[in-house]
Amino acid sequence: MNTIQLAEELKRGSRRALAKAITLVESTLEEHRAAAERLMDAVADSEQQPTLRVGISGAPGVGKSTFIEALGTRVVGDGHRLAVLAVDPSSRMSGGSILGDKTRMQELSRTDAVFVRPSPAGSSLGGVARRTRESVQLCEAAGYDVVFVETVGVGQSEVAVAEMTDLFVLLLSPAGGDDLQGIKRGIMELTDIAVVNKADGELVAAAGRAAADLRNALRMMRPRSAGWTPRVLSCSALEQRGMDEVWHQIDAFRTHAERSGLKSNRRSAQSVDWFWHETREMINARLLAEPNVAALAESMQHAVVERRISVSSAARRIVDAFLGSQRSASLQEASSTKRVQK
Ligand code: GDP
Repeated sequence: MNTIQLAEELKRGSRRALAKAITLVESTLEEHRAAAERLMDAVADSEQQPTLRVGISGAPGVGKSTFIEALGTRVVGDGHRLAVLAVDPSSRMSGGSILGDKTRMQELSRTDAVFVRPSPAGSSLGGVARRTRESVQLCEAAGYDVVFVETVGVGQSEVAVAEMTDLFVLLLSPAGGDDLQGIKRGIMELTDIAVVNKADGELVAAAGRAAADLRNALRMMRPRSAGWTPRVLSCSALEQRGMDEVWHQIDAFRTHAERSGLKSNRRSAQSVDWFWHETREMINARLLAEPNVAALAESMQHAVVERRISVSSAARRIVDAFLGSQRSASLQEASSTKRVQK
C-alpha cells in the first residue's frame, strides 16, 4: 500500500491503517522517514472535528493505567472516540518499558471506540516525543477526538507531554509517602488539574490531606493557563469513583480553553516551537553527516574544552564549514548537470 492509500484508509477510520501509519512514523530508518513525511503531509489538512489532547502524568504506581481505564470508560460512554498514547522516558535507559504497556488497559482496548498504542522505544526523549506528536495527529485524522498522552513522572517527559497537549493532568497518590516535597515545582507549575487517586479504604483521610496540601501549594503558584485556576480532585480509579467529576472538570477546561482562544493559541505556539525544533534537529543531523564537518566539530569540541578558541568562534567555524560544503556540493551538481546537457 502506498502512502496516499494509507492516508485515505486512515482517514476513513481504519484501525489497521492507523496502526500501520504509526509504525511508519515511529521507524528510525532513514528510508521510512520520507514516506512518513508524505503521510503527515497527506493528513495535515484533513478536515477535523474539534479534538482534545490531554496529558496525564504521575509517578510509577500511582495508578495511571487503572485511572486511564476508568476515565477512558467514562469518556467513551459519552460517545467519544479515544486514543491512548504514551511517552516512555525509560526506554532509553533500561531498554524496557516502565509503563509495561502490553498488559495494560486490556479492558479498554477491547472497545472499538478506543485505540491504545504502546509507547515507542527510542534513543532519546526528543525522538520519542516527535513521533508521539505525529501519532497524535494520525489518531485525530482517523477520527479519535480525545487523545490521552500518558507519561511516567520521573523527569523531563512531563514537560514534553505538556508541550504537545491542551491540558495537563497530574495524578498523585496518598500512599507510598509521595508527599508534595517529592513533586518538583516545575511539574506542579504545568498542572491544570491535579487528581489524588486511591481515595478509598484506609487511604481516604490521607487523600483528603494530600488534596488540601496540593490546593495550598498550587495557590502559591502562577496558574499555567490564563483564566483557569488549577483544580484539585480526588478519586478512586480502582472503585471507579470520582471519574464523573474528573471528566466534568476536563470538559470545563475545554470549554474555557475553546472560548477564550487558549486552546488554539497554545496549539499554534506548540506547532511553531515544534517546527523550529525539527528544523534545528534536521540541520544538526545534516551537519554531522558531512565527514569533514563532523571531524572539524570533533576537534572544535577539544579546542573549546582546552580554551584554545571561544565557544562562539568555534560554533561559527562549524556553521561556515557546513555552509561551505553545501555550496561546493551544489556547484558540483550544477556543473555535472551542464555536462550532461552538453
Ligand atoms: P501505574 O504504574 O501508575 O500505571 O499504576 P497502576 O494502574 O498499575 O496501579 C498500581 C497499583 O495501584 C495497582 O496495584 C493498582 O491496583 C493500585 N491502584 C490503582 N488505582 C487505585 C485506587 O484507586 N485505589 C487503590 N487502593 N489502589 C489503586
